[in-house]
Amino acid sequence: MLGYNLLGDGKRPDSDSWALLSDTHLAANRTLVVHGVNMTDYFMSVARELEAMAPKCAGVFVNGDCAYNTGEKSDYALMAALLEPIRQAGMPVHIALGNHDNRQRFWEALQEEKAARRPLKDRQVALVGTSRANWFVLDSLEQTAAAPGMLGGEQLDWLARSLDDNRECPALILIHHNPGKGEKNHGLKDTEALFEVIRPRKQVKAYIFGHTHVWKVERDPSGIHLINLPPVGFVFRDGEPSGWVHAALNPKGMRIELRCVDQAHKAHGQVVELDWRAS
Ligand SMILES: [Zn+2]
Repeated sequence: MLGYNLLGDGKRPDSDSWALLSDTHLAANRTLVVHGVNMTDYFMSVARELEAMAPKCAGVFVNGDCAYNTGEKSDYALMAALLEPIRQAGMPVHIALGNHDNRQRFWEALQEEKAARRPLKDRQVALVGTSRANWFVLDSLEQTAAAPGMLGGEQLDWLARSLDDNRECPALILIHHNPGKGEKNHGLKDTEALFEVIRPRKQVKAYIFGHTHVWKVERDPSGIHLINLPPVGFVFRDGEPSGWVHAALNPKGMRIELRCVDQAHKAHGQVVELDWRAS
């Protein structure tokens, strides 16, 4: 890193460096405060940190629940405006949808997202290929403002085919909903079907999600890392961190670091070194 900084001018993005954001819950009413958090202010604080980094991240992921509650077009208009400085600073933004989003209104407000070429025309999915990893952005929005989510057979088939076509490079899966099970599953309804696809495909190294508004890193018995991103916006329980996660890829894994909006929070700067399971 030091050598790079000495050689580079800090303007070229670091191709191994990525920003992982989730649950921004941006409300058209920019003054709205929930659980002591103004979501617009928190998002702008994260955006300023991203813009000030040298070198900058190669890209930014927003892993769903972009909008405050019911995915209004005016929420997305604010989102588009707040994303603009990040994009102007040279960081492409890749957006997933959550249960507080509305796909049609999202596409109406962010026309370039609607126009983007997608592997599945009717879902907000993407495959972002880089030299060290393929990022799969999936769409688990089933019904706006109802908690659980679902990928569905068509999307899982596409995921399986795309993974089979991309065996050589580590695959990192971004889905808004957390793995869930049981009758009161407020997470991903087709978790088992997803794991049937990703467990045997050893190139899959991590499943990254939001939705619970809790920061946590665990590991599936198969060796897949389970990364629960904190919310950028409001927390459900006092004391939980809000912020974003910086991911730095290396040949054998990924180093992730929690960046709290409140930098005095005890979890701020927490680092987890993730090693990839064998392929
Ligand atoms: Zn949320």
